[in-house]
Amino acid sequence: MEDIRSITREQLEDFLLSKNEKKFRAGQIWTWLWQKGIGSYDEMTNISQSLRDLLASQYTFRHAVIAQEVQSKDKTAKFAFRYYDDALVEGVLIPSGERVTACISSQVGCPLGCSFCATGTMGFVRNLHYSEIFDEFMLMDRRARELYGNGISNIVFMGMGEPLLNFDNVMTAIDRLTAKDGIGLSPTRITLSTAGIVKGIKALADRKFPCGLAVSLHSADPVVRSAIMPVNEHHSLHDLQAALVYYHQKTGERITFEYLLLSKVNDTRQAAEKLARFCRPFPVKVNIIEYNETPGGLYHRSYPNQREEFIDYLKGCNMVVNVRQSRGQDIAAACGQLVKNKR
Ligand code: SAH
Ligand code: SF4
Repeated sequence: MEDIRSITREQLEDFLLSKNEKKFRAGQIWTWLWQKGIGSYDEMTNISQSLRDLLASQYTFRHAVIAQEVQSKDKTAKFAFRYYDDALVEGVLIPSGERVTACISSQVGCPLGCSFCATGTMGFVRNLHYSEIFDEFMLMDRRARELYGNGISNIVFMGMGEPLLNFDNVMTAIDRLTAKDGIGLSPTRITLSTAGIVKGIKALADRKFPCGLAVSLHSADPVVRSAIMPVNEHHSLHDLQAALVYYHQKTGERITFEYLLLSKVNDTRQAAEKLARFCRPFPVKVNIIEYNETPGGLYHRSYPNQREEFIDYLKGCNMVVNVRQSRGQDIAAACGQLVKNKR
């Protein structure tokens, strides 16, 4: 049976009309599904029991549940979501002043296997459906209101998985989250992070992607990048740079890079020079990330003086550089620490 949240608004209207129901019911049902984010037909209080039964006889209603919640001493909260098939993914809430940022997963596991990332070690299980991504938002938004008094203000697709390898579902989820008849978040409050899927970046450019884009670069040296990010084998730095030139031309946006400093791997003076050279064709912002330990991790954080030299070199090239503080490390909720095995 098809899931009620797999169909379009038009399909819902057609179904209701074919059953001699009024068209405006579709609007009411849509609001329950995509604005109020309910978890079952029983919650549709302005819909008659007979219509609810009719819907239930035609469409299943799959809804995620929170399987686990852990809170950090810095108020970050990490959640495990369980889906209909027992698949689990993680999401994180990061409060900061009035702002609450939700870090959302796009896949169960990840096929790209970066050597520094805990998610990469668990392999790939499956893509998340857009309604499953939407559920992560809804469930965490409700908890954010309870925990911090504010709902989610910002979303980053920096949880488990590579969003551009689940392109259509991620785009539809963003559509539901930003739609007027959905959650209505501003696209400027959403950031998608990619390991550098060339075709996906071009597709974003073609649709003038209204959200933020961040590219996890981590090295501008082909040998080093391939060693830590196998994705580089099929999405070379050369092709990635060309795709980003295209993205900049189409959107006029600055390119944001994530750069994870790994001691003696990608934090040398030579590495900084290569990074600066790679960034020449477009205006950039570089977010420097500190390495978070992962189980059995192979790497070490850069020494503070090495990090400062690296940053100073980039700033000397007139590049915009930010140092990102990691949160939630005590509960393994920081970047790259998300991993979940079945049950
Ligand atoms: N797959 C996408 C989005 C999820 S990863 C991507 O790779 O961009 C989100 C961010 O966390 C990426 O920038 C990733 O490189 C970073 N990350 C992964 N492992 C990390 C670790 N151990 N410490 C710090 N950051 C890490
Ligand atoms: Fe996948 Fe991103 Fe982790 Fe690499 S860093 S394994 S692309 S989730």
